Amino acid sequence: MADECIFCKIASGEIPCEAVYEDEDVFAFRDLHPGAPSHVLVIPRRHIPRITDTDDAELLGKLLIGANKVAEKEGLIEKGFRYAVNFGEHGGQLVMHVHIHVLGGRPLAWPPG
Ligand code: AMP
Repeated sequence: MADECIFCKIASGEIPCEAVYEDEDVFAFRDLHPGAPSHVLVIPRRHIPRITDTDDAELLGKLLIGANKVAEKEGLIEKGFRYAVNFGEHGGQLVMHVHIHVLGGRPLAWPPG
């Protein structure tokens, strides 16, 4: 756990959130400022700042499997959804703890703005 990481604090229960899914390695909770009717963030419990900071294939796989479970729990499988990982200045990553955005519940524009 990184001391000043807001997502580490959320996963440990120090900062409240609306949890959607959790297992030993992965935690998922609703985004505070939802960009779609369903907007959930899926994070590894272990602190990894950016998606390029790890080559742990097992953990990255578990993250995607966690996102799949969220999509199913949120009822997004039938109509569809989007996974997004923001990175760097152009990608707009604001929180330096790897997270997959799971977005759905309405048609999503492509490409994003
Ligand atoms: P990103 O720009 O990909 O780093 O996205 C960070 C996301 O974290 C944004 O969509 C924020 O709305 C969300 N966020 C920031 N703080 C919190 C929080 N305390 N609880 C839930 N979501 C948060």
